[in-house]
Amino acid sequence: MGLAGIVAIPAAPLIFAPVAAQERVSEDGPQAKALHYRHDAADVDHDAYEEGQNCANCALFSDPEASDWGPCEAFGGRHVAAAGWCSAWVPRS
Ligand code: SF4
Repeated sequence: MGLAGIVAIPAAPLIFAPVAAQERVSEDGPQAKALHYRHDAADVDHDAYEEGQNCANCALFSDPEASDWGPCEAFGGRHVAAAGWCSAWVPRS
């Protein structure tokens, strides 16, 4: 194995940790179903939904710079679609 094998082992956690943090929320998950989460707000059928609301303009979408998928505090930091929506939507101030 030589020196290359010894160097590769400590680097492994640094390579895999960001992948786990960017896990995407599934619409089929129990929490997503409880919050009526949809990847596309156009697919929402919920009394609380108002046109124009989406994850990108929700206060719980914690990376306003994200244009596609980004972390949501309601889902423990897992990523939701910027164009999505759920019933926990809170206006960004
Ligand atoms: S809490 Fe906000 S950012 Fe998170 S899924 Fe619901 S609407 Fe989207």
